[in-house]
Amino acid sequence: MRAVKNTISFIGVIIMIAIMLAGQAAFAARGDLVGIRAAAQPNGNTRLVIETTDRPSYKLSYLAEPNRLVIELSNTGGGAAANISDGCLVKSVDTAQDGNALRVTAALRKPISEIPKESIMILSPNGDSGYRLVLDFASGAAATKIATAVTAPPKAAVKNQRKPVIVIDAGHGGKDPGCIGKSGTREKDVVLAVAKKLRDRLADAGYTVYLTRSNDVFLNLNTRADIAEQKKADLFLSLHVNANPSGAVKGFSIYTLSQQASDEETKKLAEAENASDRIDFDGFEKYESGVRYALSAIQQRAVAEASLEFAHGADRTMKANGITEQSNAGMRSAPFAVLRAAVPAALVELGHLSNRDEEKLLNSSAHQNKLVGAIVAAINGYNFEM
Ligand SMILES: [Zn+2]
Repeated sequence: MRAVKNTISFIGVIIMIAIMLAGQAAFAARGDLVGIRAAAQPNGNTRLVIETTDRPSYKLSYLAEPNRLVIELSNTGGGAAANISDGCLVKSVDTAQDGNALRVTAALRKPISEIPKESIMILSPNGDSGYRLVLDFASGAAATKIATAVTAPPKAAVKNQRKPVIVIDAGHGGKDPGCIGKSGTREKDVVLAVAKKLRDRLADAGYTVYLTRSNDVFLNLNTRADIAEQKKADLFLSLHVNANPSGAVKGFSIYTLSQQASDEETKKLAEAENASDRIDFDGFEKYESGVRYALSAIQQRAVAEASLEFAHGADRTMKANGITEQSNAGMRSAPFAVLRAAVPAALVELGHLSNRDEEKLLNSSAHQNKLVGAIVAAINGYNFEM
């Protein structure tokens, strides 16, 4: 017993050292300010964009007389000239280094109203751009209570905020079996079993969880996307299992919505998954590929960024949790009809029923639990505050 106890405390020390080293690594990896821009938007709001090389943690505060918006970026350094367009609410921008934090002070022409959470976004690097903290605001009664958001470890965020709502979609169902394995395993059964286990684990972890279907019924793809919107999901996950003409192909893959398929294989996959609707002629509705109807262009972009953020993290986390990834899967996207909900969404192909070994695994409760554990870890690692 004593040996066991010593081992445990020894492990404890190692973990503490690891945490300290991780802390130092984070400390050392200070990002740089790349640029600051402010301009008026077509709707009259002002958009302030702060671009950095690393994902910023930030804190907002508002000072009156004179009116100033102060954004404190932790672990950020450097200075950059601000590019401010005429006709916006920002008059000038100053930066000041305070230890490892960079304080950006925007002098305002008028008082501004409270900045709602949905008007604060962090966009991931894209093309030539780095991380961008985007703030949209309007003139109005002085912001007594500006939405202060700090990108915090997700666990803490989950504790302090409303519980994130997650909608899990088990693909196919009823008269639509999905793909069928060599030994007769049906996609609709595997994904329902995994969806139920996932619901239970996520509920235990403190999330609010809904399933689009909890039994063997057919739902068309619009209905599934509608449920995600009705439940105001913070994340929508559609679970599927793949099949490939080659029995050798195996492993999981993750997809997000885009207007154009990223590659030929993903295009075919989206066509196969979208064909689910054609089984039910009464419920068949023609959809326009890749469009999130209810959203403005900027909101669409924000939802797309959040979806990508989740998918990238989930891809890493699932691999780290020992789930085999389909070779050359990478991050792919296509006009998957089920992902058209106006919320961050991803489609996960859990594996291949066309591969004999994987068909066996997908049928086993132990492997289903392993998949569920990996997806829970991916969701825990996702920053719902983004
Ligand atoms: Zn499917």
